[in-house]
Amino acid sequence: MFALPMAAYMVQDQEAHAAQMERTFIAIKPDGVQRGLIAEIISRFERKGFKLVAIKILVPSKEFAQKHYHDLKDRPFFNGLCAFLSSGPVVAMVWEGEGVIKYGRKLIGATDPQKSEPGTIRGDLAVVVGRNIIHGSDGPETAEDEINLWFKPQELMAAKPLTSEAIAL
Ligand code: ADP
Repeated sequence: MFALPMAAYMVQDQEAHAAQMERTFIAIKPDGVQRGLIAEIISRFERKGFKLVAIKILVPSKEFAQKHYHDLKDRPFFNGLCAFLSSGPVVAMVWEGEGVIKYGRKLIGATDPQKSEPGTIRGDLAVVVGRNIIHGSDGPETAEDEINLWFKPQELMAAKPLTSEAIAL
């Protein structure tokens, strides 16, 4: 037979799939993890219909947190923010789906939980801006940069549903 090995099919499939599907970076910050909100937050993205394509738990270093938040380096809260992000476990994730960057931000709610609508993650589950439990990329370029900062390409799964066609491959 002239068929490609299965691994080659899978790589081709992942590359084709990645080209057409939008992805965003979402992190549950140390306060969200400490408060036991991991499942609650994942559930909201999952129930909406987005697909989880990468996840890991880690304690980022202060230097790593500074890289992640480099856009905010001139803000007065920058040091405290980076110290907080590196103060405990963070759940780093990549979510995939149509419109996931913009809609992910809607699910999260406004930066200041006092201004977040009820029904959003921050609106329902947080009170102060310095402990707003979750991060989400704010646009396509940031999403790409943040995914590349937090994950290696091989850590990202293809989120294509398992169809009989896929199984036959
Ligand atoms: P978002 O997380 O909604 O994208 P920003 O990128 O503006 O918001 O800010 C990054 C994070 O910095 C916020 O999620 C919040 O934790 C923190 N932050 C923003 N503004 C303040 C502030 N005025 N005081 C303390 N922390 C802040």
